[in-house]
Amino acid sequence: MVAREWSSMDTALHDLRNDLAVAIASLEAFIDGKLEPSAPNCQRVLDSLYEVSAKVSSLAPGLRAPASAGNEALLGAIVEGSPYAKILVDAQGRIALINAQTEKLFGYSRAELLGQTIDVLVPERFRRGHPALRDSFNESPIARPMGAGRDLYGRRKDGSEVPIEIGLNPIASETGSFTLAAISDITERKRAEELRLIHAGVQQHATALEELNRELASASRFKTQFVATMSHELRTPLTAIIGAAELLSTAKLGERERISVETISEAAEALFALIRSNLDFSKIEAGKVDLEKRIFEVQTVVEGAAEVVAQMAREKGTTLHAFVDPLIPRVEGDADRLKQILLNLLANAVKFTEGGRVVVRASPFRQSGSDIVLRFEVEDTGIGIPAEMLPQLFEPFSQVDRMAARNVGGTGLGLSISKSLAELLGGEIGVTSTPGAGSLFWFTAAFAIAEERARSDSGLEGAGGLIISGDDTFAQIVERYLTSWAMKTRRAVSGSDVADGLQTNDGPAWVAIVDLDDIGISDIGVTVDILRALHPSRVITIGTDGALRKPLRQSNLFDAVSRAISAETAVPARPTAVEPRAGVVGRVLVVEDNERLQQLLRLQFNDVGVPATFVSDGLQAVEAAEDGYDLIFMDCLMPNMDGLAATKAIRERERHTGGHVPIVAMTANAFAEDRDACMAAGMDDYLAKPVRLADIRRMTERWLHAAASQG
Ligand code: ADP
Repeated sequence: MVAREWSSMDTALHDLRNDLAVAIASLEAFIDGKLEPSAPNCQRVLDSLYEVSAKVSSLAPGLRAPASAGNEALLGAIVEGSPYAKILVDAQGRIALINAQTEKLFGYSRAELLGQTIDVLVPERFRRGHPALRDSFNESPIARPMGAGRDLYGRRKDGSEVPIEIGLNPIASETGSFTLAAISDITERKRAEELRLIHAGVQQHATALEELNRELASASRFKTQFVATMSHELRTPLTAIIGAAELLSTAKLGERERISVETISEAAEALFALIRSNLDFSKIEAGKVDLEKRIFEVQTVVEGAAEVVAQMAREKGTTLHAFVDPLIPRVEGDADRLKQILLNLLANAVKFTEGGRVVVRASPFRQSGSDIVLRFEVEDTGIGIPAEMLPQLFEPFSQVDRMAARNVGGTGLGLSISKSLAELLGGEIGVTSTPGAGSLFWFTAAFAIAEERARSDSGLEGAGGLIISGDDTFAQIVERYLTSWAMKTRRAVSGSDVADGLQTNDGPAWVAIVDLDDIGISDIGVTVDILRALHPSRVITIGTDGALRKPLRQSNLFDAVSRAISAETAVPARPTAVEPRAGVVGRVLVVEDNERLQQLLRLQFNDVGVPATFVSDGLQAVEAAEDGYDLIFMDCLMPNMDGLAATKAIRERERHTGGHVPIVAMTANAFAEDRDACMAAGMDDYLAKPVRLADIRRMTERWLHAAASQG
């Protein structure tokens, strides 16, 4: 080549570089979407490319072959820096140029691709249609995205496919027409799109599910409604059956008929119970329970519920206790629902407990402002529940042991109703249980505070309460009640405890609360009898044979204690020590048939300093009186010969022998006519039981002095 040619070539190359810069800039802008793909813009880009292309063709004949090295270098500059994979393809579909991104995207090296047909990058399943598409593009070569509306895939060297998007740009030059393909990997976008689709699908499913749920709910409402109606309709004929059976049972029946009628009654009652539970259950299910609002004493409700199952408990030999924390205020809420839960739990507890003990308790749980949450517990020492049964226990129709449940009766609805009711009352329900040891069912319920418990005067402040019971639970309950009335309490589980209790009790007012069911655990029985004989009005007996029944009601205890204290406060304090009086000497005979009372009286006479001789009935008394006593204390009601007859006999004898022994009647019959009867029989004085130390002292002083002064 000559020098002139080189220098003009230099200038041309310089020009070309400028043109090329412009062309690349506009091309990039176009491909990247920065330049709007409008017709004038396309034209401008194409024009600049034509220009470059024309210059290149005139510059180097070698450039005419698209696959030549020089050409590659030149056009490579256009495409190399692009973030996209770019491939220049000639009209026959041969690859003339690629950039680094192409190598990266398809996994081929430049050398492997150059000169190959573009088909190598097309998945096999699309290859057949490819030439036709190429031809159609070549026929009307305008810049456009390839395969509009279709998903496009590239084929990598390793055979895998990659979703791509392709922009096509025709490049026409004197050396022929080319297509510049800009390829972008849309894997990420596709994935995002798929996610969006999945999301939309899920949404659609959710909507469908919601719809289904609504339908199910209305079906379940229908079912509930149906059960409710059926149950209701069944009540009428059932009431008739129960009524008729009751009428029949009052008639004179043979054994066979009686058994049949009883069976009918029992079955009808069982059905009735089932229907009631069913109705409750469906009402709750249907959300048809309106909570009532009324002010009530929690105490009344809890103790009332306990009362309902008390007889059943008694029959099974089960001790039933109720405790309501005295701190619980009057509340406002639905007392009936509360009672219903308590009854369910209590009935279960008694049902599944033989002997042993059932305790129902209520205590404050949480308080905020004018609201209070109470916690209720029903604890038993019954058969317990296996751990694996606990989770489904509150589901409808769940019974631990169907056969066992059949024996004791039950529908398996009680606990699920209780759960719903507790939730309705703004609380929760739960259970802990140990098979063989017992269960503790608890629930909470929220109420409005109607009236804070005012610290009013109980009238019992400072009075002493001696609790005589071997049952810790019972003793604790009584203790809590007494201390809430500001009383001082003492617990006794033995005779010496009682004695201690009485000794240390220095106030004028005291009362002994005796748990009769527990008498006999030690020597306490005797002591209690003595106590009762001595201070009948101070002893409050509780138990099957007691003045008060179990479960003990707080208000009954209060009344009994108040009565005992007010009856006794008039009596002066127990004299502590009795000095033997000088001059009070003599032999005393005491006639008393009750052995325990004898023991007590012996102590009392010793205290007074007048040792006495004891006999147990009238006959012995008449006989003993012959020995010449100075004073006789005579019980009235006695076996063999009563006190009146004995007195008459003694007086009769005295008519012959002379002399007159003073006889003082000791009787539990405290009426005036009893007194008159004693006097008529020849007695000199009269003591009403219980006999107190002061009485003995008074009587011995009076009659022994009299005897001494006479003698
Ligand atoms: P049911 O009317 O059959 O008593 P519930 O729902 O009240 O129905 O009780 C379900 C089951 O839970 C009972 O059948 C019994 O197996 C068990 N269960 C409930 N309370 C007690 C308990 N205090 N001690 C032992 N098992 C209990």
